[in-house]
Amino acid sequence: MNRWTAAALACVVLSPATAAEPDLMVTRAGTRTERAAAQQHFSGRATVDMLHVAAAPARASVGSVSFAPGARTSWHTHPLGQTLIVTAGIGQAQRWGGPVVEMRVGDVVHIPPQVKHWHGAAPGSAMTHLAISEALDGQSVTWMELVDQAPASAAPVAAAVAAPQPSRAQQLMGAMAPKLAQLTDDVLYADVWARPGLSPRDRSLITISALIAMNRPDQLRSHLTLGRANGLTQDEIAETLTHLAFYAGWPNAVTATGVARDVYIGKP
Ligand code: MN
Repeated sequence: MNRWTAAALACVVLSPATAAEPDLMVTRAGTRTERAAAQQHFSGRATVDMLHVAAAPARASVGSVSFAPGARTSWHTHPLGQTLIVTAGIGQAQRWGGPVVEMRVGDVVHIPPQVKHWHGAAPGSAMTHLAISEALDGQSVTWMELVDQAPASAAPVAAAVAAPQPSRAQQLMGAMAPKLAQLTDDVLYADVWARPGLSPRDRSLITISALIAMNRPDQLRSHLTLGRANGLTQDEIAETLTHLAFYAGWPNAVTATGVARDVYIGKP
């Protein structure tokens, strides 16, 4: 094989038939812009990270929607239905006239076409879900009234859900220190905990680690419960306790282990 034949062969090898196809498209984590969900269609704070927007003729789009505790969508329908996949926290969903269903990490909820429904976070937990919807004639959602504004006579179940439930902070502190309870709900949980910069799971792990290090068993108990809802496993908490024994002190880790045992396994 002479030099020119070799060069010609190399060109064939380097110019496969697929060269005209577009490259894979990668948007890196942290490079997308999360935006606040449209206030007129949501109750409470929610943010949307559009992971994929369909380009015609494709029509399936995927968004990651994060809800602060108790936040929810308005009533709405999807022309071709919608699939929700919970990735953090505890959520709720309801179709018009049906019961409220709880959804947890890994649960997949499918909403059929044109079924009126809402979805959002449970009152005591933030929640993030992936939402996969297909557009029909460019439209993937039809918004309706806020859940709280639903006429009571039309759907008694919906009215029962709309009744405000006291938050955990209100239950614990409301009678004694109502302003502190309100700040806990409005600033700490509805704002700081709902910020997209950290996942609910990572926020839980950080908070639990700090409470173990500071030896705060009362707050640790409720944050372990929240952390479990945000996806922290018993094995991960066991590893955290063992790790922190070396950094936060043996007695702190031993005290926290007793609290974690109560939450994850039950009182002996
Ligand atoms: Mn929906």
